[in-house]
Amino acid sequence: MNDWIEGRVAGKRHWSEALYSLQIEAPLPAFAAGQYIKVALDVDGERVGRPYSLVNAPHEPLLEIYFNEIPEGPLTPKLSELEVGDRIWVSNKASGVFTMDNVVSRRHLWMLATGTALGVYLSILKTAEPWERFERVILVHGARNAGELAYGETIAEIQAAHEGSFSYISALTRDASETSLQGRITNLLENGTLQDVAGIDITADDSHLMLCGNSAMIKDVRAWLEAHGLQRHKRHEPGHYTTEQYH
Ligand SMILES: Cc1cc2nc3c(=O)[nH]c(=O)nc-3n(C[C@H](O)[C@H](O)[C@H](O)COP(=O)(O)OP(=O)(O)OC[C@H]3O[C@@H](n4cnc5c(N)ncnc54)[C@H](O)[C@@H]3O)c2cc1C
Repeated sequence: MNDWIEGRVAGKRHWSEALYSLQIEAPLPAFAAGQYIKVALDVDGERVGRPYSLVNAPHEPLLEIYFNEIPEGPLTPKLSELEVGDRIWVSNKASGVFTMDNVVSRRHLWMLATGTALGVYLSILKTAEPWERFERVILVHGARNAGELAYGETIAEIQAAHEGSFSYISALTRDASETSLQGRITNLLENGTLQDVAGIDITADDSHLMLCGNSAMIKDVRAWLEAHGLQRHKRHEPGHYTTEQYH
């Protein structure tokens, strides 16, 4: 069991019907913003673990994960029942390459998220690096309804700290709202709405994009990017976009 360290739930937030955040106190070694940990519970005598991006920045003392409860899933219905003080297992290190190390410096950094993938970007945006390396950062969050637009206070703090450099664009697929666009991220990219709202174009010269969330969004956005001359970033072949797929 050397792969796991013991943690305690130190905070819980229930955002909407199926959306939760947990803060966890655990002695995780240093990590880079954008990485994920594995979180586990013992369910019927078996340790069930799943990966979760860290929402907290590396300098923040409590670990934080943001997830939605999948009723038929083995772990998330149990995770959502946890209360402050309960025991939880955490991997003994963070992993993953969806970090600023694999982002190429250009003028504009686009961060595209569906659902709970918002969290990984909050960790990165609470560090200095994106602001030092990019003129503009555009965070695009796609969700089903307005209740799923979590972390409004954190986004407002980022906005206040980086006035003029930061744009937050939300898009809803099921609700209409005056403060969000309506439709899927892919369609809003294809018809140019995202670029119009941000006031900048997506080009191979100026843009790096990070894509995180469901496989359909990643697949469709990749196809659009490739058709417009932007390529996947590889360690030895600098490109224009990086991806992290949750499901
Ligand atoms: C690198 C990585 C990082 C991840 N980080 C996060 C994170 O920060 N937050 C998070 O909520 N999930 C994240 N996931 C998904 C997570 O690991 C679990 O799969 C998810 O929480 C469901 O767990 P489960 O055991 O209840 O069900 P599972 O058996 O894992 O999945 C059950 C079903 O739910 C689907 N599913 C999985 N994740 C989601 C989701 N987020 N939204 C809708 N459907 C989903 C799966 O495709 C599957 O059909 C990440 C996955 C990877 C690979």
